[in-house]
Amino acid sequence: MADNHVRVFDTTLRDGEQAPGFSLRPAEKLQLARQIDALGVDIIEAGFPIASPADAEAVRQIATEIRRPVIACLARCHRADLEKAAWAIKPAARGRIHTFIATSDLHLKVKLRMSREQCLEAAVESVRYARQQTDDVQFSAEDATRSDIDFLCKVVESVIAVGATTINLPDTVGYTTPDETRDFFDRIRARVPNSDKVIFSTHCHDDLGLAVANSLAAIQGGARQVECTVNGIGERAGNAALEEIVMTLRIRSDRMPFTTSVMTKEIYPASEMLTKLTGQGVQVNKAVVGRNAFAHEAGIHQDGMLKDRRTYEIMRAEDVGAPWNPLVLGKHSGRHAVQRRCADLGFQLDGDELVEVYRGLMSIADDRKVLTDQDIRNVIARARAVQPAPHDAVDPFDTPSAAQPAIHESGYGHGV
Ligand code: MN
Repeated sequence: MADNHVRVFDTTLRDGEQAPGFSLRPAEKLQLARQIDALGVDIIEAGFPIASPADAEAVRQIATEIRRPVIACLARCHRADLEKAAWAIKPAARGRIHTFIATSDLHLKVKLRMSREQCLEAAVESVRYARQQTDDVQFSAEDATRSDIDFLCKVVESVIAVGATTINLPDTVGYTTPDETRDFFDRIRARVPNSDKVIFSTHCHDDLGLAVANSLAAIQGGARQVECTVNGIGERAGNAALEEIVMTLRIRSDRMPFTTSVMTKEIYPASEMLTKLTGQGVQVNKAVVGRNAFAHEAGIHQDGMLKDRRTYEIMRAEDVGAPWNPLVLGKHSGRHAVQRRCADLGFQLDGDELVEVYRGLMSIADDRKVLTDQDIRNVIARARAVQPAPHDAVDPFDTPSAAQPAIHESGYGHGV
């Protein structure tokens, strides 16, 4: 693969699924795996087989049915985990065992009660065993970003020596920053003598809202695999969002000259399926897939959009497979947008009638948050029922009154 190609490792079905409120039944995991396959990701992490018999079964079903991508699953550095993982990916066209152990002193002392030497030995033994089961083995140094760098380099070099093919350096607790991440990957790749034999991977969490920024910085530091999830779901504040990473690489290829294999038109269908299966919606202002990601209520923005959508949109909803109904009517909307929506509903409004309907809508907009098509029909019906004869109509622009709100061509709303 070209040196600028970034492998997308989707962990929606593992890190995402293990977050509170996101658990899925095996049949649901299989259904979502089909859609994630349609997205074109390179690797699907299907689960953590030792966690439950159902999850082991789900991984095995996905490995049996989904043939194109690599199917990975997670295992601690324990023989029982590794055996279960090997069983689960056995039917895969290409199966990967992903084994991990924490390398930070905090995790070693408090959680694992192990010395660094014991940690190193467990990592090496596990990777060696995993390589006897499959030739695709990923090793993750959990809490890598808070680990002693000398020890981390020693672990990474040692597991590469016994056959690890991908080295993942997770920011398990979402602690790092973009500049630190780039430097971290640069340094480790430079210091580990056999680093050219493997693909480096990043896995970032969003505790400080930096997961995507850190993932992109890792790519700039030499990572060529990025771990991420649909809608950014995952432990605590979640993982890096697949759709944000992919669309940043797409839209800003001038600054980030890297490619992925993701079919962007499948992004929104994947997001929607995940929402339906878990019952957990995405925040309305979520980048790329949120309900408001391509919606405009402010009059100044709507006016710009009606003239040329590039004024307020850097990407097209259709490129990510999302519906495009950009003009949301609310109290910040202007007459242009109201006129356009009415026309879409079959009502040609001009002059006084448009003014009347516009005033009617604005008078109820405060209570509505968003004006619906039914609100519009009701207001038009009322306006037409009481509409004075044309020669009686008063042009509000000729007789401005303090009692009436001024009507602006493009409405109110934020211009910046
Ligand atoms: Mn994680």
